[in-house]
Amino acid sequence: MSTATFNNVANEKGEYSLPTLGFSYDALEPVIDTQTVEIHYSKHHQTYVNNLNAAIAKHPELAKQSIEELLVDLNKVPDDIRTAVRNHGGGHANHSLYWSVLTSKEKSGSPSKDLLTAIEKQYVSFDGFKDQLSKLSIGTFGSGWGWLTVKPNGELCLESTSNQDSPISKGNTPILVIDVWEHAYYLKYQNKRPDYVQAIFSIINWENVSLRYDQAIKSLKN
Ligand code: MN
Repeated sequence: MSTATFNNVANEKGEYSLPTLGFSYDALEPVIDTQTVEIHYSKHHQTYVNNLNAAIAKHPELAKQSIEELLVDLNKVPDDIRTAVRNHGGGHANHSLYWSVLTSKEKSGSPSKDLLTAIEKQYVSFDGFKDQLSKLSIGTFGSGWGWLTVKPNGELCLESTSNQDSPISKGNTPILVIDVWEHAYYLKYQNKRPDYVQAIFSIINWENVSLRYDQAIKSLKN
């Protein structure tokens, strides 16, 4: 699966799998160190996928849906695996988006004209947006995520979730995310979450974030 794909589907055996990383483990240096990327992707993210697959195996018919579709309405997921899908399915979806919105410093680029216009409309300036998303991410209590999402009315929204909860479950479409679990930054930054969050803005894959914004807006018009 390419990192430009935002819908994580299962294979014919009903198993979800890690998305292909669009970069090598060392590509995010010096902002995110090689070892952190390797452990985060091949161990942490893989474990969410494994635990999700173990849960789905109890209700194989669910695997006809992408993990994002399952997260839209968790009440439709059977009781006995609802928490597992919320936590491990959320973990799989959230990390898949996280990898797709990161890239090397050289390839970071800038938001599309449409996305920049929307950001400036909502947050006055690009710097104002970065400042608000930084504060929100840094201020997330415990383990969680800072998000830029699109609301059903097309407006941009900044929000924070705990654990592996996804804004998809309350109807918003994520287009950018910052993982603020300690495993995302601890080896290099230790307790200094603010330094990690501020640095990550130099490795955002604005091409993919802009693509995701276009898709979200188009799906609302349909
Ligand atoms: Mn993580």
